[in-house]
Amino acid sequence: MRRRDFLYLLGSATAGVTLGSLGLGRVLPPSASPVPAGSGDFAIPSEREVVSICGGCAAGCSVRLRIVDDRLVGIRGNPLCPVGNGGVCARGISEIEAFYDPDRLLGPVVREGDRGSGRWKRISWEEGLSRVASALSKIVREGGGERIGAVFSSGKGSTSAIFERFLGAMGSPHLYHVTHLRDEAALPFAAHAFGETRPYGYDLRHADLVLSFNTPLLEGWLSPVYVAHAFGRGRRRKGGRLAFLHLSSRLSPTAMRADRWIRCAPGGEPLVALGIASAMLREKLVDREALQGIQGLDPWIDAQGVRHPGLRTRLIAENTPHEVARKTGVSETEILALARRFAAARAPVAIGEQTAGSAGIPGLGAVHLLNALRGRIGAPGGVFVAQEAPVEELPGKGGGKRLDAPPATPLAGTPIWRALEGVAAQGGNVPFDLLFLEDGAALGDLTKRDGAAGLLGKIPLIVSFATSLDRSAEFADIILPATTRFEEDCDVEVAAAGAFTAVAAAHRALGPLLDGRPIAETALALGKRLSLLPPGFPKDAGEAVEHRLGGLFRSNRGMPYGTPFRRAWTAEMERAGWRMPEAQDERSFVARVFEAGGWVDPSTPGWRPSPHRPFRLAVAGMKEGEDPLHPETTAPPVPVGVNLLLVPVPVGAFAGRGTPNRPSLLEIAAPHVHGAYRVWAEFHPQDATRLGIEEGAAVTLSNGKAQIVASARITAGIRPGTVAVPFAPTAGGEGRFAAKWGPGAEALFPPPAGPFGGFRIARPVTVTISARREA
Ligand code: SF4
Repeated sequence: MRRRDFLYLLGSATAGVTLGSLGLGRVLPPSASPVPAGSGDFAIPSEREVVSICGGCAAGCSVRLRIVDDRLVGIRGNPLCPVGNGGVCARGISEIEAFYDPDRLLGPVVREGDRGSGRWKRISWEEGLSRVASALSKIVREGGGERIGAVFSSGKGSTSAIFERFLGAMGSPHLYHVTHLRDEAALPFAAHAFGETRPYGYDLRHADLVLSFNTPLLEGWLSPVYVAHAFGRGRRRKGGRLAFLHLSSRLSPTAMRADRWIRCAPGGEPLVALGIASAMLREKLVDREALQGIQGLDPWIDAQGVRHPGLRTRLIAENTPHEVARKTGVSETEILALARRFAAARAPVAIGEQTAGSAGIPGLGAVHLLNALRGRIGAPGGVFVAQEAPVEELPGKGGGKRLDAPPATPLAGTPIWRALEGVAAQGGNVPFDLLFLEDGAALGDLTKRDGAAGLLGKIPLIVSFATSLDRSAEFADIILPATTRFEEDCDVEVAAAGAFTAVAAAHRALGPLLDGRPIAETALALGKRLSLLPPGFPKDAGEAVEHRLGGLFRSNRGMPYGTPFRRAWTAEMERAGWRMPEAQDERSFVARVFEAGGWVDPSTPGWRPSPHRPFRLAVAGMKEGEDPLHPETTAPPVPVGVNLLLVPVPVGAFAGRGTPNRPSLLEIAAPHVHGAYRVWAEFHPQDATRLGIEEGAAVTLSNGKAQIVASARITAGIRPGTVAVPFAPTAGGEGRFAAKWGPGAEALFPPPAGPFGGFRIARPVTVTISARREA
């Protein structure tokens, strides 16, 4: 038996005792096994392979499930899928563990006792639906339909489309998508700088230079399989190999794959971007035409007629390579070399969501200023926003004023959470009487933040669709557990993965394993009870998916997923004005899309006109600290005694729902430093010697805010004077296998500005190595 299997079984046994004592054995499977037992006889098993959609992240990769005797035993990529290209990432493979997760809820439950007490009672679907339907009916009867909201953490598709219509019929426009915490800064940034409300992405396949500002490009970032495939293809490209330069304070798996890893002071990456921009302007290494489109660089007049001096002069004067080198530890020569290399490349792109995202709009503004100066916004190989897929709208109405339009401040975080925060700050009531939560993924980190619990706690009724008792369960009153994507008819509008528009589609492949139901079916059942659905509304999720796919047929664009050659050929022909439909009627077209796993428009242009195209650098009324020329940064500290500077390390494998409960992901947390199954702390050999720390020793890190224990890893991959610690995957004890990790780096950071204030990890904190003992 391997270590992983042993710990898995050990975890199951231990958790069984704990959960049993909490009375949770009544709502969770009592003795679930990670791999289902055999059928017990010697009959030859039936085996089939079925197309489905991976639910591991918002990328929407089409996958093929290997099913033996109705049991899921394997997941591989669909070779026709333009996102995954036949690949599947570790998180995708671990969807088997999620499917057979021993902590999946058996069926609907209702809270007993106070919120957060963890006491639940099994109820029937009939009772669960009745309770929710009567609460909705009362709210609507009293004219409060607008006080019903929903937050979804998976991508857009038929499920959210049905839910939007369901809410719309009650008079509510409040369906919000929070697919990833990256969106906390990236979405408002896009609205501010690009005039876009959709997530932006990168055309990595056509770039020839990627300049990364501490972005975990190869560690589960954005659309992991697409990124890995595009990166691999670029590196093998003959006559124009993709160059990859990476700035960070720590050697990560991504940094190890770079052509050049440039060490930088923790949090200083956005400042280096400004130094490069300053050098490019000074040496006139910019795209002249693109300069015309940058609002805020040169003197300008705003809508109120106020004249602004523009930021060019300050940028050149204050962020000289010399000054930036002094603050970040990246040499002046290096900054100049980066500026010249970025300027000389044919199709360079700068990426920086990790550190810059935590620094908010100023950090992202600094990185994307480089793209703007080189005319890389909307250019092949640059930054783009994929157009919306032409799916057929469902009957009914939506619309109404949403909380997130426009973002409350230039530095807004995730719009819905920030909007709630704004309401609270103004002393207003929480604007919901009933909130639906799709699951706890997007809520996981937020709920630990000071004040968030109090704010959500004011909502009288929270209905969760969680599949297990995750973070959203702390606030939920009723849980109507959802099924997994493998157990439902579904379609997913592919998130910003590549420079094309795509929709993955699949019929139900399995189950349902337990007594869960697709969210779409739950919404339809509630809609029918309340007589809300308009005439002609799809009867079930399958009909809704087919209805939406019909729009793709009528758009007279794109094709069902096909081979790379077929996609390239279709794109060429469509660009030349020719059309080669693969099906003559809608019915056979929809059948082809299901069979292939989805639809793609390979000839979609990567950008669309925006109100302030292409880039708005500054807006009138920005406050101090929101200036794009002043991202937060900290000079490298001189280690004093037992103090070091803490570098937080996000672990890409855990950036999704339910990931802490997947032993295979715990095992690969940080293979390059043997980080697995517990919080670790990386020390430079000089510091380890100075502080008397040995490899594997348990060390205590503390500051005025918290104290954590971690296992020491000694590596030359971080700067002397710093210590790197992961965010614990537990996000508050979620998952039986990771529960013993305890808190990670996040515990040592000061609280965010408000309940939903977003990550503020760009400014590293000092910690004291105050205790050491053998592990
Ligand atoms: S990238 Fe996302 S959707 Fe694709 S296989 Fe990995 S987890 Fe699944």
